[in-house]
Amino acid sequence: MDKYDVIIIGAGPAGLTAGIYAGRAGLNTLILEKLNLGGRVLLTEKIENFPGVGKEILSFDFIKNIEEQIRQFENVKIVYEEVKSIDVINKRIFTDKNHYDALGVIVASGARERKLNVKGEAEFLGKGVSYCALCDGYFYKDKEVAVVGGGDSALEEALYLSKICKKVYLIHRRDVFRGSKILQKKVMQTSNIQPILNSIVLEIRGDKFVESVLIKDKVKDKEILIPLSGIFIYVGIEPNTDFLKGLINMDETGFIITDENMATSHKGIFACGDCRKKSLYQIISACSEGATALNSLNNYLLNL
Ligand code: NAP
Repeated sequence: MDKYDVIIIGAGPAGLTAGIYAGRAGLNTLILEKLNLGGRVLLTEKIENFPGVGKEILSFDFIKNIEEQIRQFENVKIVYEEVKSIDVINKRIFTDKNHYDALGVIVASGARERKLNVKGEAEFLGKGVSYCALCDGYFYKDKEVAVVGGGDSALEEALYLSKICKKVYLIHRRDVFRGSKILQKKVMQTSNIQPILNSIVLEIRGDKFVESVLIKDKVKDKEILIPLSGIFIYVGIEPNTDFLKGLINMDETGFIITDENMATSHKGIFACGDCRKKSLYQIISACSEGATALNSLNNYLLNL
């Protein structure tokens, strides 16, 4: 099998941007993706904070545009296989089906949702518990649901669900939301979103499907049972970096540590996007890091 100049692991905004830059740099490129182009972006309805998209763009259209951009490059191939391990010394990537060799690697494997780890969460997955409002929201048309979390994702998805559901409880463990002010304002202006602050989820209850959530109000030190049909959990993200554990430097939660050029602790391996330890987890920063990672990798190849 031929050696690629670069293998990019993951086809979210970071990996796809690295792919576009690789295409333009004339590099023989392979993008490996386990599921779908776009990654977690497709779990949300629309994008409002990316310059140039006007007031908003549907996430699906945003990714479709990037796909069109990348498909024009014959030197960039996309293969749907899941990366299982890497020989970092020889830059050999093992997937569930094959292995591939490269001169350099860009890890853009993104992140997945963090679990709440409460009783009933696993039991009622797909039966009232969801991590994707866009995928499952319509099952709860005109019903009462809860969103758990206080970050951008929880606020955005509560707003999305408020257009479908009768009522959305927004359960957050502190007295202030972490998410951006503009989203907080929209939430406060939405009459069928009821924020429940200073409260933690103790248990998700039901018979065949979710019927209620038991929460604890930390201020009043009181347990409250809220009847509802669905619960959407948005309590942060965990990096998809298990296949790299012990091979490159990461923080204690598995986010990859890089320098400002996206170089990891191993020569010729770069990382970008949500799998990286950083301060801003947004599409705009993922794209910027993807471009930087490819530029750094290109410089690395020139000096080989
Ligand atoms: P996040 O910003 O890390 O927020 C997670 C939220 O869940 C926090 O409010 C946190 O509470 C809460 N939480 C964490 N563990 C919990 C637990 N065990 N029980 C109850 N609550 C818990 O995560 P995110 O909202 O998924 O967003 C991930 C990243 O993507 C963020 O950097 C975000 O800015 C970015 N993002 C951006 C956009 C956008 O720009 N439009 C959209 C979506 C996501 P505390 O606040 O008390 O820690």
